[in-house]
Amino acid sequence: MKVAVEGCCHGELDKIYETIAFLERKEGVKVDLLLCCGDFQAVRNEADMKCMAVPQKYRQMQTFYKYYSGEKKAPVLTIFVGGNHEASNHMQELPYGGWVAPNIYYLGYAGVVRYRGVRIGGLSGIFKSHDYRKGHFECPPYDQQTVRSAYHVRNIEVFKLKQIRQPMDIFLSHDWPRGIYHYGNKSQLLKRKSFLRDEVKKNSLGSPAAAELLQHLQPAYWFSAHLHVKFAAYVQHQAQKDLLPRATKFLSLDKCLPHRDFLQIVDIEQDPSASDRLEYDPEWLSILKNTAGLVNTTARTWNMPENNGLFSRWDYSASESDLKEVQSDLGGDLRVPENFSSTAPHYDPNNPQLQREPTYAVNPQTTELCACLGLTDPNACRTEGVGWEEQEDNLSTGSAEEPSEYPTDTSGLSSSINPDEITIEEEWEEEGDEEAAIQSPPARLVLPSPSRTSSSDGLIENRPPFSLSASLPEPMGVSSLEEFTNEEPARHEGAGLTDGIEGNSSPPSGDSSAARPPKRISGENAATGEGMKKMKRRNQTIYTARGEEEEEEEEEEGDC
Ligand code: 5GP
Ligand code: MN
Repeated sequence: MKVAVEGCCHGELDKIYETIAFLERKEGVKVDLLLCCGDFQAVRNEADMKCMAVPQKYRQMQTFYKYYSGEKKAPVLTIFVGGNHEASNHMQELPYGGWVAPNIYYLGYAGVVRYRGVRIGGLSGIFKSHDYRKGHFECPPYDQQTVRSAYHVRNIEVFKLKQIRQPMDIFLSHDWPRGIYHYGNKSQLLKRKSFLRDEVKKNSLGSPAAAELLQHLQPAYWFSAHLHVKFAAYVQHQAQKDLLPRATKFLSLDKCLPHRDFLQIVDIEQDPSASDRLEYDPEWLSILKNTAGLVNTTARTWNMPENNGLFSRWDYSASESDLKEVQSDLGGDLRVPENFSSTAPHYDPNNPQLQREPTYAVNPQTTELCACLGLTDPNACRTEGVGWEEQEDNLSTGSAEEPSEYPTDTSGLSSSINPDEITIEEEWEEEGDEEAAIQSPPARLVLPSPSRTSSSDGLIENRPPFSLSASLPEPMGVSSLEEFTNEEPARHEGAGLTDGIEGNSSPPSGDSSAARPPKRISGENAATGEGMKKMKRRNQTIYTARGEEEEEEEEEEGDC
């Protein structure tokens, strides 16, 4: 199936769907699924905007509310994770995922679903070590601190994802797995984003939690965003006992702006016999059930169970009987119910309500899922004033001052209001983008089909539930991306459709290297620099609504 992957969305749904329609016409294909890698901005109204960590000048309603109100319908099933610019009150209603509008599904703080037999997982938010071991304690209306901490990744989400044993096809995160830059065209990345050089050198850029998940899950594809640059990498994982070695094709995309690489269509092998409705993942639901007792909604820091003598249980993975129980909980029907309903009024451009304050809603979708699985909705629990802190369990607590469990992590050293949105980047980008536009003919990114390599039982080898350091395999085992740079463009044809329009999908030549082996399914010719200029002009027509000055990216101050 054709899967469109989007970097940072920033509420630009109209433009993203227009771009997909444009690519569909141009390429003569039908996109089956859209995956968005965070900064989605599912802002329903003025109150939601107050729950989004973003400078005043960027507090714009954008287009999501139209899909929420029913004025428009998402033309393609859209699945997203959260980033660091979200209507956190809205996201918080759906801790286990759910519909934010018809046909638009949020994966929750962490989540796994299936579509056409393809298993898609994701982790929302960005990593900051100082909040990592806290519970999801934030509660709207947020203050200066909680409006930012609300989207920081928590250890329980990573712990839950690390209970997964069955193979993952696609994984989404907003920030990059730490170290991933060593597996791609690093020099090109640093040419485009020179201000990242130091962090890349020190290996301090990106999320150590995501790196740990990459190593554990070894998904066929991993898509990210946040750094506002297109970057592809190929990680060849070490072979594990009884299993063929797996590989992960990593791709990060830019934010939705004209002339930026924000969208890519990838061809993903589907199961032709599978349902074309979005489905729950039984293993994931079993893990949610197994870990229900670990939920913490306080700001106290918690360590997740591990096999260190302090915990009576540390393995919360799904057993055969857990899987059967979930099937029976769902009455044998894995389809995600199409049960979207509004829980807040939608924005009305003819009647703005600036005074609207964030409310605290219990979402019926969460209530329904919790009732079905016997979980507790953390939001319902809070509204009823039941303190989870009263719960007795075998978790150990720690102090917020304890060092990060990731030895190389430095994110806790910076304040959560991070001025990293360096102006250097703007200066550099203008130059860099221009250069790229002149020098790089649009190439097609070709990602190979997911390798469904598995042992006879299809399980990932049992690993310790939590390791202290996130280490990826030696990049040595990875073919240099440069080696693909000089491949004949014709060898890249086919599989990864896409790069239809410059700025939306064209990687600079060479970074399409994640490809192997190239699959020949169409007779596309390599585009030329000339062709690229034409496409660039066509692309502009998509954005007639945008002013010239808006075409220059202005990075907002934020928590990055
Ligand atoms: P956002 O759109 O999420 O506010 O910000 C993303 C921007 O912050 C991007 O331009 C990205 O380059 C920058 N950024 C995000 N994370 C980091 C980081 O860890 N280090 C640096 N130097 N820049 C970052
Ligand atoms: Mn971001």
